[in-house]
Amino acid sequence: MEYRILMLGLDESGKTSILYKLKLNENISTIPTIGFNVENIKTKNGVSLTVWDVGGQDKLRNLWTHYLQNTDGLIYVVDSAHRQSIHVSARELHNICDKEEMRGVPLLVMANKQDLPDQMNEAELVSALNLGKMNDRKWKVRGTSVITGDGLSEAIEMLASLVIEHRAGATSNSNAERDL
Ligand code: GDP
Ligand code: MG
Repeated sequence: MEYRILMLGLDESGKTSILYKLKLNENISTIPTIGFNVENIKTKNGVSLTVWDVGGQDKLRNLWTHYLQNTDGLIYVVDSAHRQSIHVSARELHNICDKEEMRGVPLLVMANKQDLPDQMNEAELVSALNLGKMNDRKWKVRGTSVITGDGLSEAIEMLASLVIEHRAGATSNSNAERDL
């Protein structure tokens, strides 16, 4: 089974670094992403995730909506050490999640850059991103660092479980509708 995963987040949060760390196990030097990167990532259990990393610069953010259709799971990356931008990041997350195409799509927040000083931890980000309000989908937060590698594969496994669970539920719902 192959799943379509969208990876969004503000510019500089670490999306492209995460994608290539997961794909190649290498820290690559990135340039701001214009457009998108896409790679296939296999989890330990052989789940195949096609991950779309879409550029997050201010003027590109209105393009995010073109990528929403048929999304099985959303990875939302935040720079946990950049407290100044967390408000904007929260707003953009809720904008995306409010879109019709994203209804019920499971969310994995990568609280990235956990290696930096004065970073927000998972609990702080739950609050800063207002995730308590997000009751129309399953969501989880996982601290990550591209520098140390901490949390990345765990985050991907968590996402894969959420996505598989969600797909299974969606299939049984549509069966139920057909039976009516
Ligand atoms: P994107 O714009 O979201 O794709 O972000 P990039 O992947 O281009 O990363 C932006 C900058 O953050 C780069 O200089 C990365 O090396 C750096 N970076 C990414 N992840 C981490 C991390 O976990 N810790 C630290 N300290 N720096 C990171
Ligand atoms: Mg990028």
